[in-house]
Amino acid sequence: MKSDVVIVGGGISGLSLAFYSAKAGFKTTLLEKNDSVGGSFNSHLYTGDSTAFWLEMGAHTCYNSYQNLLDIVDACHVSDSIIPRAKVPFMLLVDKKLTSVFSALNIFEALKSIPNIFSLKKEGLSVREYYSKIVGVNNYNNTLSHFFNAVPSQPTDDFPADMMFKSRAKRKEVLKNYTFREGLQSVAKAIAKSKGINVFTGQEVTGIEVVESGYAITTGSGVTHSAATLALATPSAVSSRLLQTIEADIAGHLGTLKAASVDSLGVVVRKEDISVRPVAAIISPNDTFFSAVSRDTVPDDQYRGFAFHFRTGESDETKMRRITEVLGIREDAIIHRYEVMNTVPSLRVGHREWLEKMDDMLAGKNLLLTGNYFGGMAIEDCVSRSLSESGRLKKS
Ligand SMILES: Cc1cc2nc3c(=O)[nH]c(=O)nc-3n(C[C@H](O)[C@H](O)[C@H](O)COP(=O)(O)OP(=O)(O)OC[C@H]3O[C@@H](n4cnc5c(N)ncnc54)[C@H](O)[C@@H]3O)c2cc1C
Repeated sequence: MKSDVVIVGGGISGLSLAFYSAKAGFKTTLLEKNDSVGGSFNSHLYTGDSTAFWLEMGAHTCYNSYQNLLDIVDACHVSDSIIPRAKVPFMLLVDKKLTSVFSALNIFEALKSIPNIFSLKKEGLSVREYYSKIVGVNNYNNTLSHFFNAVPSQPTDDFPADMMFKSRAKRKEVLKNYTFREGLQSVAKAIAKSKGINVFTGQEVTGIEVVESGYAITTGSGVTHSAATLALATPSAVSSRLLQTIEADIAGHLGTLKAASVDSLGVVVRKEDISVRPVAAIISPNDTFFSAVSRDTVPDDQYRGFAFHFRTGESDETKMRRITEVLGIREDAIIHRYEVMNTVPSLRVGHREWLEKMDDMLAGKNLLLTGNYFGGMAIEDCVSRSLSESGRLKKS
């Protein structure tokens, strides 16, 4: 099958690139290994007694600063399904009790340190170096670091401070933070239906060759697609592997990046069977899980759901024991469970230099790379990278 552009990977990075490519008039094909598009946009559906209940197993919150995403949402006619998130708190679990972040902070230490915010620059500093000066070392160690670790579900001390939380221009008429009526994956599905994009799911790309007309991309089911331009929107390790034989230098540079796996287990419970107060998420310092993200932000009449993001390597028994302890329920109160493995990049100080080198290596090639390991892992970072890569598409 012949296209102008073949994109490998149907998460938000690949989908947004496909959107820009099709919009610019290129015949665009997207290949996704899973049975549906979305990647870390994974709004798992539990079809209960009468109503369907979705639970975010990956990304859960968008902001009005996600302007490129919002432009795509508008163009795909899904802005009507933007809904507010209920105002429920992020809570720390300390000594078996849920407590708010602010009550866990030492206010005196914070007040002493906070003026540093006006003089200290984030560039070149790690999350630990920057934030321990902004809130104080003890506040950072005892409270803030656990919140930061919960964002990419891994220790974030060594992450670049300027890539974790970015200040961006906002679209004032849009809710400050929001989700979508049917969950974030509904946005992925809407983008996949855009005019000019051919999406093939259940197609894991296993091999890529350089041919006279560009690239030949082969899937595990034996189908070969060809295109003048190839775009990879897969985790860095997968892209590195796929490029090994055709772009060894780029593959090697990609191979220097690290990533973490997140073992996510979602559970659904009937409302009457659980008494934990409504929360956005539970964060438990130094625990087997980094966060338990709740569906309480979009309350349901019958069910409550929690996606526990565990460190890898825990047994099923350990995970279930911890879930029932934290939620204060018996195991038989769990009426549905769902597991998925997510991959998140482990960015390090010096990543900007890595990125500059990567862009130099890609210059002039009909090879595009996008993903959550370029400007940052927030959804908007992924879409922004895809937008800038789409600027390298050339008409033949
Ligand atoms: C638990 C969690 C919570 C998060 N919460 C938020 C949040 O609230 N807000 C926010 O802004 N960001 C959040 N993020 C970050 C953000 O969701 C991700 O960075 C982003 O969705 C990644 O998109 P992606 O397309 O780059 O990668 P992915 O979503 O990982 O997509 C990659 C795709 O490539 C496919 N693939 C892999 N190998 C192949 C192959 N060989 N052939 C074909 N297809 C292949 C995969 O199946 C997958 O669909 C969260 C991330 C996680 C994991």
